[in-house]
Amino acid sequence: MSGIELAVTGRMFHAPTPDALGIIDGVITVGADGVILDVVHDASSPMAIELVSRARTVWRMAPHERLLPGLVDTHVHAPQWPQLGTGLDLPLESWLFDHTFPLEARYADVGFARDVWEHMVPTLLGLGTTTAVYYSSIHEDATRLLAERCAVGGQRAFVGRVAMDHPTGTPEWYRDESADVALERSRRSARDVFEIGATAGLVKPILTPRFIPACSDELLVGMGRLADELGCTIQTHCSESDWEHANVRDRFGRSDTEMLDAFGLLRERTVLAHGNLVSTTDAALIRARGAGIAHCPLSNSYFANCVLPLRRLLDAEVRVGLGSDVAGGAWPGLLPQCAHAVTASRMLEDGVDGSIDGDCRGVSGSRIDSVTAFHVATAGGAAMIGLDAGAFIPGRRFDAFAVDTKRSANGMREWDGIDDESRIFEKIVRLTGPEAITSVWVDGRLRAGRAAVV
Ligand SMILES: [Zn+2]
Repeated sequence: MSGIELAVTGRMFHAPTPDALGIIDGVITVGADGVILDVVHDASSPMAIELVSRARTVWRMAPHERLLPGLVDTHVHAPQWPQLGTGLDLPLESWLFDHTFPLEARYADVGFARDVWEHMVPTLLGLGTTTAVYYSSIHEDATRLLAERCAVGGQRAFVGRVAMDHPTGTPEWYRDESADVALERSRRSARDVFEIGATAGLVKPILTPRFIPACSDELLVGMGRLADELGCTIQTHCSESDWEHANVRDRFGRSDTEMLDAFGLLRERTVLAHGNLVSTTDAALIRARGAGIAHCPLSNSYFANCVLPLRRLLDAEVRVGLGSDVAGGAWPGLLPQCAHAVTASRMLEDGVDGSIDGDCRGVSGSRIDSVTAFHVATAGGAAMIGLDAGAFIPGRRFDAFAVDTKRSANGMREWDGIDDESRIFEKIVRLTGPEAITSVWVDGRLRAGRAAVV
């Protein structure tokens, strides 16, 4: 019988399904391997008391703390960390070529890369991002350092060296010299990350053709074959904006989704960033292949030209995770993105142009609430990338963070006689700042917050 390494007692929220908030006032026990053993709903029950008595470590949350599953950020451009919050008045193409590619090119300097990763990884962990799906730059050394920093810091991560070789879709000073060079670098980089994960755990490689406009046909075909060879998952962008969507249509006469499928890139667990312009047919294809969409609501407000029909995609059983899209999204961490996802869905439902009659201004049936947004940020993202986490269920990995409503500097408070647990959950989603996040756990180990030993 495996022993109980950790017992956590107190009040907890999770959203294993899109439309139901789970409230637990009890005990979770965790084994030495970081996997949840038991979830008991009454901390005073004989069973709960017995389990707690057998645990090597007991973590009792304070009365105003709530435990939530760790956030799974399915779209982060790690090298764009230094430009977080800037350049967002530009169209996507200009933002990429004038701001983003010059910054990403700097990661040839490993000292600069190390400095950025040292700042970024602990910051994201401290915000409750227990898993991140990272785009690195085109550089192998910087990518290896990123994977090492995540493994050392205790953040679960999928890390991908960006592959991009297109002669007009990329600048000549920031691209792989050819498809063959891009494939060889991606193969080596994926093996590097595999090795780090095999030794230290937590990190895995993910093949990362940037997006179709930045890649030659030869590279796109080769990345599909490389995924077979290495058994790697894939991430790329798909139908993000009018410009990107039209670029693929002009080049191939077909949609982004159809072409990714034709290139062998649309497969189980493929992460498609944005997907705002996917059609109903595209969505059916994404579902059939077992791929999913990383929804980045704040970034989409700046660059995507429209709102993702999240509710419709969930109803069609397409896998969807939430993404910050650092730095197209101007805010790190996923709780603010939950709030943005709700806001965006409401604007899609009601419409945005007051000169149009209310009856035909919006798209009815588009709204989501904070529970659905939180589900997408946790269990939804985990399911999309094949991670057994995202909810407090025996057999899943114990990735979690705690919020203390009393520590909020953002107006959050539990009002006696007014707030029930579901209202407190809503407040936590919308009002939590970093100061209120008191502990962060990955694989059953305390990685950030009070008394964290990393
Ligand atoms: Zn992106």
